[in-house]
Amino acid sequence: MMGTGLDDVYTDAARRRAMETTRQRLADRLREGPATASELADSLSLPTAVVYEHLGHVSRSVGDDESFLVAPPTCRNCGFDGFDDPVNYPSRCPECKSERIEEPAFLIE
Ligand SMILES: [Zn+2]
Repeated sequence: MMGTGLDDVYTDAARRRAMETTRQRLADRLREGPATASELADSLSLPTAVVYEHLGHVSRSVGDDESFLVAPPTCRNCGFDGFDDPVNYPSRCPECKSERIEEPAFLIE
């Protein structure tokens, strides 16, 4: 038996637990008030890309009595806010090609 030792099992379980803890902390933070991914990344010492990944999961796992709210990213240049995937940080505006995009903010209430 290769690759299915106890060490691997423990590592997987620990990784999964760490991920659940991180998502729990993200959700708890968003229940206190709105935050952008950068603010969440700062407070949890995670790369912003990882925060977005976790937020995707958190957005699908909030309970029936709660809502995961997103203030969509907005172009500071032309005001465009119709981005396809709000749980993401677009690098440029599809309308005016500006890269001055306001980050989306998230909230659970
Ligand atoms: Zn624009």
